[in-house]
Amino acid sequence: MKKTTIPERLARNRYVTDEEESHIHVDQEIARRTGTGKAIVAICPAKVYAEEADGTISVEYAACSECGACLAIAAPGALTWRYPRGGMGIQLRQG
Ligand code: SF4
Repeated sequence: MKKTTIPERLARNRYVTDEEESHIHVDQEIARRTGTGKAIVAICPAKVYAEEADGTISVEYAACSECGACLAIAAPGALTWRYPRGGMGIQLRQG
């Protein structure tokens, strides 16, 4: 049996994007004041967050792998996160 690499396994995942609403919202003021903004940019393995030139944090929610890391480090009130609506988000494939 051929061994597969981690990138090959991750490429099997599928995403169904909710085109109508994001499941992630950043409170820009709290994120900036508490340092949460820079922290979530650094920790997210899917590069969902980016710090823009004006210091705000943008969110590319369609790439979220629902790992929960950002939630674990966010200051209270800085981040609103829930699972995507039913049938949407990442669909993990075993392999
Ligand atoms: S749940 Fe994981 S993948 Fe999704 S935004 Fe947070 S850190 Fe990134």
